[in-house]
Amino acid sequence: MMLWQPSIPDSYHTLPEQELFARIQDRRKQLGTKLLILGHHYQMDSVVQHADFTGDSLKLAQLAASVVEERAAANTPVEHIVFCGVHFMAETADILTPDQVKVILPDLSAGCSMADMADYEQTVEAWELIHESLKQQNWNGRIVPITYVNSTAAIKAFVGHHGGACCTSSNAAQVFEWAMAGGTEPRAEGEEIKVLFLPDQHLGRNTSAAFGINVQLNTCVYDPKKTEQGHPLGGASAKELHDAATILWAGHCSVHMLFAPEHCAQIHEDNKNLKSGEEPVQIIVHPECAKEVVDLADQAGSTEFIINTIADSPPGSKWAVGTEVHLVNRLANEHKDRGVQVKMLSDCQCLCTTMYRINQPHILWILDGLCGTPQSKNGENQAPGKPVEHNIIAVHPEAQTRAILALNRMLAHTGSGAVKV
Ligand code: SF4
Repeated sequence: MMLWQPSIPDSYHTLPEQELFARIQDRRKQLGTKLLILGHHYQMDSVVQHADFTGDSLKLAQLAASVVEERAAANTPVEHIVFCGVHFMAETADILTPDQVKVILPDLSAGCSMADMADYEQTVEAWELIHESLKQQNWNGRIVPITYVNSTAAIKAFVGHHGGACCTSSNAAQVFEWAMAGGTEPRAEGEEIKVLFLPDQHLGRNTSAAFGINVQLNTCVYDPKKTEQGHPLGGASAKELHDAATILWAGHCSVHMLFAPEHCAQIHEDNKNLKSGEEPVQIIVHPECAKEVVDLADQAGSTEFIINTIADSPPGSKWAVGTEVHLVNRLANEHKDRGVQVKMLSDCQCLCTTMYRINQPHILWILDGLCGTPQSKNGENQAPGKPVEHNIIAVHPEAQTRAILALNRMLAHTGSGAVKV
């Protein structure tokens, strides 16, 4: 669901970077502990410099929930969270924090193309079509849905309502194992379980392979666009659905799809021609990359895993990293002084264009609104007036209740405790 962001006044875009920085700092001082700014790892440095916390989407939402609780206990309650990330992340923060805390996305068009690939109506239709086909084939088992946290609140709610769970790229293996064991109801003797994995087919395929599933024979892809074009089962055959242990939703991350097996092959080739004593380049990729890329990498794991692995690597190590460019450039800068070389796995601009929409002008516009001091056309701030809350992201209460079920099942089965809401 791509939301539309009306243009903000031009005066915000014409301010020099340093002036933007100074004004944002000034507004932050005015708002004090009532404000919390969160920055995802893939944001530009000019955005991350304003963040109270950086992290991946779930870590940030959980941190937000605990800071909100701490500040409420200290009688300095948080009123607004400015989430410098994409739409589904702001939704997750809204789900995990009390209603009185408002979550703001600085630019409404900062969506996630992967999350937008699974829409609620399509998912309901797929669920019915798949069950109907399996029933006609006398299949007598249960489907447990799993959704990657990179999904809309509506999909999390669907999954929660149908006995499934969320997962992250760090805990997908544990959640998958839980689902295959029957999920909320332990698998009965002789009962077959299938997983419907939304919305990232690559994380679903990589997780299935790591679990020991033959992905050629026992996974299939359900593509809702093919259903819309008239295919009865999203492009899969009835037999493929019957034989599949995992039904993969046809979603992907457009950033991580830019890494190809050829990029890994080139690094392997270069490693064969090293001079004596020269350190080979190790390949580390995110599991949103295609399985063919993950198979050729030395290591694969979540954003936090990539950050920690490089941080723990000895001086002289060399890394080719398959993930978003702003994070890779930040890692290269952070570790160059201790002689660790970090570069992109590919020469292409692997940039999350929607995250990139969040910038200093939009952050200042949001904070000016909260301080009640919007800019006039010439860039001057007007006399303080009534605060204006732009771009509030609010998840429907019914969807929240169901989505929390999916999030809590994930947390309960990955040893992280449950969400307190
Ligand atoms: S990097 Fe990919 S999954 Fe992450 S927000 Fe951007 S499009 Fe979505």
